[in-house]
Amino acid sequence: MKARLNSDEYVAGLITGNRVILAKAITLAESKLPEDQELIEEVLEKILPYTGNSLRIGITGIPGVGKSTFIEVFGKYLIQNHHKKIAVLTVDPSSRLTQGSILGDKTRMEELSKNPLAFIRPSASGEALGGITHKTREAILLCEAAGFDLILIETVGIGQSETAVKNTADVFLLLMLAGAGDELQGIKKGIMEMADVLAITKADGDNSKRATEAQADYQHALHLLRPDESGWRPKVLTCSALSGTGIEEIWNTISDYIKLQHKTGLLQQKRQQQEIHWLHECFNNLIKTKLSDDKQLSILFQNSEYRVRNRELSAPHAARFILKEFIATLKAD
Ligand code: GDP
Repeated sequence: MKARLNSDEYVAGLITGNRVILAKAITLAESKLPEDQELIEEVLEKILPYTGNSLRIGITGIPGVGKSTFIEVFGKYLIQNHHKKIAVLTVDPSSRLTQGSILGDKTRMEELSKNPLAFIRPSASGEALGGITHKTREAILLCEAAGFDLILIETVGIGQSETAVKNTADVFLLLMLAGAGDELQGIKKGIMEMADVLAITKADGDNSKRATEAQADYQHALHLLRPDESGWRPKVLTCSALSGTGIEEIWNTISDYIKLQHKTGLLQQKRQQQEIHWLHECFNNLIKTKLSDDKQLSILFQNSEYRVRNRELSAPHAARFILKEFIATLKAD
């Protein structure tokens, strides 16, 4: 394959489900080069009619909770029993990427990664957490155009990523450990409340009883919440990727949630809000890049920070001045 494809070649490859082109397109989306960004924008524009038909499931939990093991089993179950084509996008802000793969990630989801109906891709999260949604969104659309009808977005729960998942997925599945204590898991009440479905993992062997107890505790805590507009209250389940128990129930619960969201029109509303959120994010990113790429503006910013820090200048005044200079630069371009 020649090194650089044009947008039509990307589109043709994507809509025929060419995985090499899909992987290349995601890399293109992650590139910071202006010419790559222009090209991927063209591709995204052209594939829009082929997107939006998947179910996007966000899966979050602390490291070690069993995310990759769960996804391996859940993915295989969905392929075998529901004839789904699954794309897994893993977003791990704490991992370093080496040429498109997370270090130590080779052994993760080994069987699923060999399945022709699955596509696994670690997403480059880059430096900013805010960037997660941006690139992941593009990856989702590319996967959808390539015919994947279930997109699993895996993130590590560290506070901000939950919000990013909420802004990206149709349903949010939070995986938790029994007996680890909320604080240990970094799970604040707000995060639990954000989840639509919660599952206590590793409910097998000696851990079964603890998992059931934790399920009851969490369900009780969440029962005090007001249901969302559709009448849904987060459900707490248990599962074991090792024995396979609870996997089907998780899928059924997710399906129930989606059906309800669909019926009440909330799913469409959520997606529209996510699109708008994406627009704002793209715009903010463009401005940020423009600011940091322009040497004079960068210097002005640094000087302003210095003067604001030393109380020589008020922040609102400095901000307005930078904006004026920024507009002047844009006009001069
Ligand atoms: P991740 O960091 O959240 O992706 O977690 P992993 O999927 O890598 O799992 C962490 C550890 O928990 C591994 O040693 C797994 O073998 C183990 N584990 C995962 N799922 C289960 C399960 O259902 N039961 C038991 N007993 N162990 C599990």
